[in-house]
Amino acid sequence: MKSFANVNARDVKDAVNKLREPNAVVVGGGSDLLGMVKDHLVQPDVLVNLKTIRGLDQIAAKGPEIHIGGQITLDTLSHNSMIRGDYTVLAEAAESVATPQIRNAGTLAGNVCQRPWCWYYRNNFPCFKNGGSKCFSITGENQFHAIFGGGPSFIVHPSDTAPALVALDAKFRVAGPSGERTLAAADFFALPKVNAARENVLGKDEILVSVSLPKTAKGTRSTYHKVLDREAWTHAVVSAAMVLEMDQQVCKRARIVLGGVAPIPWRLQKVEAILAGQQITPELAAKAGEAAVEGANPLAKNRYKVPLTRNLVRRTLLEMVA
Ligand SMILES: Cc1cc2nc3c(=O)[nH]c(=O)nc-3n(C[C@H](O)[C@H](O)[C@H](O)COP(=O)(O)OP(=O)(O)OC[C@H]3O[C@@H](n4cnc5c(N)ncnc54)[C@H](O)[C@@H]3O)c2cc1C
Repeated sequence: MKSFANVNARDVKDAVNKLREPNAVVVGGGSDLLGMVKDHLVQPDVLVNLKTIRGLDQIAAKGPEIHIGGQITLDTLSHNSMIRGDYTVLAEAAESVATPQIRNAGTLAGNVCQRPWCWYYRNNFPCFKNGGSKCFSITGENQFHAIFGGGPSFIVHPSDTAPALVALDAKFRVAGPSGERTLAAADFFALPKVNAARENVLGKDEILVSVSLPKTAKGTRSTYHKVLDREAWTHAVVSAAMVLEMDQQVCKRARIVLGGVAPIPWRLQKVEAILAGQQITPELAAKAGEAAVEGANPLAKNRYKVPLTRNLVRRTLLEMVA
């Protein structure tokens, strides 16, 4: 493993400055990054440690919004009573990540910014993500790859919390050399056709600082359902983050975002429109499931994701109104 220096950031500005050093990379819990360094996927000279920035591991109510520092661990996030009560989808998504050890080290920002877990990328194939100009999954082992939004790369976005944050209409605070900017969670993630080498719009010297959540409307309920190919320790094959604003039996508004099926968290706006103003019956849930997979473009070995997604959407909706 290549040797590197660890530098502790004092504050966000200091972190951004340190990140401008040649070959510097930002680190949170290191649960993903250190493995990548060992596997020679990243060869940093400097790791800029964000965990030393005071206050970035806190949750605070500011006016109607909830602010969550990017350095909060997934474990703390998943156990916070305010998040569990009003933003259940996020608590459940954080709780679904990997193992207790990884949730105790891994941070929210690191979870959102983790690189893809495509086996070609992780095994150092010269693919788009490794600086090459080819996606090996197209004609290769594509069992876990994208059925939506693929091309030229067919990775799936690996983060469990990302679909939940898009479903909650979160805002991301980003800091860089020219100051700070705030953008909607949905605008943070970028399709491969925008930039095949990256998964989001962060510049090389920018960091994700924190996340804010809008106040939830009365009658809101939410959940995160994740399908795995084994019982634990792994990313979603398909997942669904759902936020429903209910008035008695009627769904006033819905936000539904899939994980594991596309290179970004995949929002289902057509399904949301089908549900708005309706009572969620088994028939409507089935219609929503059908609409969820409209436009799916599976590869040779991941056709199973189509019925899996259809049924996950249908069943999760019915469970939410049961
Ligand atoms: C066995 C195993 C199973 C896993 N299972 C899951 C799973 O089920 N679901 C899931 O979502 N993840 C999973 N992961 C991935 C990962 O470990 C977790 O997502 C974890 O939350 C990452 O957080 P971290 O703070 O440790 O990130 P780090 O390892 O510190 O960083 C991850 C990446 O994000 C970048 N980064 C970190 N912080 C910032 C920031 N503030 N701004 C910009 N970039 C940043 C780093 O440079 C690095 O590229 C798994 C990992 C392992 C090893």
